[in-house]
Amino acid sequence: MFYILSGSGMEVRMAGMGTNWQGQALCKGVRSSLFFPPSTSEKKDEKERRESRAKAICGRCRVIVPCRQYALALKEPYGIWGGLNESERNLILARIAS
Ligand code: SF4
Repeated sequence: MFYILSGSGMEVRMAGMGTNWQGQALCKGVRSSLFFPPSTSEKKDEKERRESRAKAICGRCRVIVPCRQYALALKEPYGIWGGLNESERNLILARIAS
């Protein structure tokens, strides 16, 4: 099961979970280091540049919606999923919970 965001992005409901979308992921084959932070430290401007490049790929990805839903449902703690970083996902989850 996973969450589906409403049009406003503020309501959730449960739906059957599927991962078929992963086969159409535009990030397949792209270095994971673009979508996830390095194991060593990363400066703020480096993080912003890396995330910006990853988000640009997400912006052209046809499965951005199910990818985002998946990451929100699983509360993915790291990385760019569905064009959002962890802080942006946490904001959405906090707004949903309030
Ligand atoms: S939305 Fe971004 S992270 Fe999700 S599958 Fe597409 S390219 Fe990968």
